[in-house]
Amino acid sequence: MTKRVYNFNPGPATLPLSVLQRVQQELLDYRGTGMSVLEISHRSPEYEDINTSAMALTREILGLRDNFKVLFLGGGASTQFAMIPMNFLPTGKTAVYVDTGSWSSKAIKEAQKIGKVQVAFSSKAENYKRVPKPSEVKCPSEAAYLHVTSNNTIFGTQYDDFPNPGNVPMIADMSSDIASRRRDFTKFSLIYAGAQKNLGPAGVTIVIIRDDLLARCPENLSTMFTYTTHAKENSLYNTPPVFAVYIVKMVLEWMKEQGGLNAVEKSNFAKKERIYQMMDLSSEYYRGTVDPDSRSWMNITMRLPSEELEKKFLAEAKAAGFIGLKGHRSVGGIRVSLYNAMPLEGAEKLAEFMEKFRKSN
Ligand code: PMP
Repeated sequence: MTKRVYNFNPGPATLPLSVLQRVQQELLDYRGTGMSVLEISHRSPEYEDINTSAMALTREILGLRDNFKVLFLGGGASTQFAMIPMNFLPTGKTAVYVDTGSWSSKAIKEAQKIGKVQVAFSSKAENYKRVPKPSEVKCPSEAAYLHVTSNNTIFGTQYDDFPNPGNVPMIADMSSDIASRRRDFTKFSLIYAGAQKNLGPAGVTIVIIRDDLLARCPENLSTMFTYTTHAKENSLYNTPPVFAVYIVKMVLEWMKEQGGLNAVEKSNFAKKERIYQMMDLSSEYYRGTVDPDSRSWMNITMRLPSEELEKKFLAEAKAAGFIGLKGHRSVGGIRVSLYNAMPLEGAEKLAEFMEKFRKSN
């Protein structure tokens, strides 16, 4: 058995071991084709099956109705920052954004290159330590759309309750918390997420788009940048990231085996509770950096009493088999990423390690 660490990386992130084992098993001969899945045509019946199954499973796990299309695109979530305004921010309209961290501000910057943007709320002056309450986000009824970032990977905040923009389409970057807990997905007109945290490897971005928004895509936009191109062709307009989609399909199957979104949510709740409870018992030592009611289930951020102790913590954690705990280079500190595939045991063992470390340091 290969030695596996507890991988708390923020993304690309840990994947279910059973999925990796299946990849290994199937790698040289995918289901009797005599070829690896890396070598098969994206027009083959084998890939057709992977593609449609992955789409159907996304729909099933998230409980989406038929009025949503699921797309598998390249270019990462960062390409969506541009594609969204390209498709849905026409001249004369204003797009409304909520700025809750580095990824939101990148999305804003891209939209500003395309058209008019209004930032309805920003927690920048508060070091992004919170997300807004729904009442703090006022979205004019004539806005093109409202854009939110459901989980702020770097700053460790997450919405419990989303704003309510009325009839204005709401668009969410769910890159770091998609399929991690139940949500009322009917509130959103478009959801996008890079797969590399909760759903698979890097290389594919999941876009979930409601038919009424899809109908607004302009016809004169470059083909690859128009959502309708990909929707009409079932994400097979050009060569898709076959291997990444294949793994996404297996991660979704793994989620289903776990008991679907309910069970995954339960496990994620227990994981984050274990870490936050431990932090709350020693809040002078493990200092949370965000407001308690904005705490993320996925990325838990904290500072230790000194940078020296943080360095020591990271080194000792690594030696004990816990890796990927360094905070983002722009904020420092410690960040514990607890995506779907991190087992509860990983969070428990890390909490024990943290307690021991505090007592001896
Ligand atoms: N949005 C969020 C919330 C993210 O965490 C990330 C990546 N960490 C991105 C967008 C950018 O994703 P990508 O690297 O796939 O472009």
